[in-house]
Amino acid sequence: MSSHSESRTRPDEDTVDLRVDRVACTGHGVCAGVLPRNIELDEWGYPIVRDSSVDPAKAATAIRLCPARALYRA
Ligand code: SF4
Repeated sequence: MSSHSESRTRPDEDTVDLRVDRVACTGHGVCAGVLPRNIELDEWGYPIVRDSSVDPAKAATAIRLCPARALYRA
């Protein structure tokens, strides 16, 4: 019986490249809440992108929720 499940960890195929428009960003920090594995906040609440390869569904959610419309796909 085969019970192993497929792993979805191929970054080139299953991710999108998420960017922050630093001029538009107002430091609400929603992005870090949605993408804690990809984005940290600096001491002023502005995002530091640690890994821009993001799951497409999560990227879409972060883009939709960003109050400054500062997130975009490259
Ligand atoms: S959610 Fe948008 S405005 Fe807030 S820190 Fe992230 S990119 Fe900036």
